[in-house]
Amino acid sequence: MQETLILAIVGILAAVVFAMLIHNSRKENIKAFPGQDLYYAGLSAFVSGDLEKALKKFYATIQQNTENIDAYIKIGDILRTMGTAERAAKVHRDLLIRQNLTNDQKISIYHALAEDYKANKKYTLALEALDKLAALDERDSWAAHFRISLYEATNDWVNATAAVENHPTLTREEQLHRTALYLTAQGLELAKDGKEHDARLRFREAMKASPSYLPPYLELVDSYMRDGRPKAALTILRQIVTFTTPFPELIFGRLKQVLFELGLYGDLEKYYQEFLESPSTLVEAYLGLAELYVKKGEMDKAVEACKSALSHQPERLDAHLMLAQLFLKLGQNDKSSENLVQINGQLLARQNNFKCNSCGHRMERYFYRCPQCQTWDSAQRG
Ligand SMILES: [Zn+2]
Repeated sequence: MQETLILAIVGILAAVVFAMLIHNSRKENIKAFPGQDLYYAGLSAFVSGDLEKALKKFYATIQQNTENIDAYIKIGDILRTMGTAERAAKVHRDLLIRQNLTNDQKISIYHALAEDYKANKKYTLALEALDKLAALDERDSWAAHFRISLYEATNDWVNATAAVENHPTLTREEQLHRTALYLTAQGLELAKDGKEHDARLRFREAMKASPSYLPPYLELVDSYMRDGRPKAALTILRQIVTFTTPFPELIFGRLKQVLFELGLYGDLEKYYQEFLESPSTLVEAYLGLAELYVKKGEMDKAVEACKSALSHQPERLDAHLMLAQLFLKLGQNDKSSENLVQINGQLLARQNNFKCNSCGHRMERYFYRCPQCQTWDSAQRG
């Protein structure tokens, strides 16, 4: 989606620059071409986002001048934007019959066609259009990006990985991160089919490609848990508890579960003490300790742990509420305490919701690829 937006902006800028150039050349009294004013009016409407007006002007342009290839291309682009990609593809395809097209015109037409076919979910045809583009301009990074988006759309992770590796402008680091995403996605598909062992191999390859990227580690932990291997899961968790992440609860929630499965819940305190040594995990560790102390009935120690958490992260709502609850419990257990317990639960539930920062899709579970708009790494707390 982001790529489409960038492309749209680049397209608009190009149109503006083009219009300015034409404007300047007009000043120099260069001879007008047929339908020129209609074409400018179309471009102007296009730039300002009035697509219906732009469409009318471009149609009027080609009635006066059938040689204005760009007007045809724009007509197709607008039709696609309006949701009639089938018609857009026909307009663009028909242009290719012409004999006297320049190289740049051919490139523009294949760009447009690839988009039409993608919008129609005709991925094979879209890839064919990209192949034609590659023959005309082999270092076209737009085409390279677009090719990747087509493979992603069809969950073709093998070809997506190859396309990422052949991409002309991605840095090595970006390539490896992408590879890790695709390997994780492959693993998830294998896990869905019950092939946990193969899935774990993919997760481990992903970890190797991008060692600081959290999702494959978490998926590996979950896979071990599904296979009833909490010990192996604990080994992985121990590797990642010191990771810097905006979502440390993803690690700590699993850690609690794994220790519980192993009958080592009593060791949790020891782990928490260990995590107090790392700045990225210490608030989570204090809160975990507070929870443990509450369970053990050691309220004073719980209060101290909450206060410590707040001294490092004063905005933590869950810590404030836990503390408020504790104070009430230490005094009188009246009804307001019950209310606070409820508020606490609601707030925690909200804190555990995730939202896509691209399309706003909400999920209870953390996601690294939005199931709605397919954007990668778009989860934020919401
Ligand atoms: Zn989304």
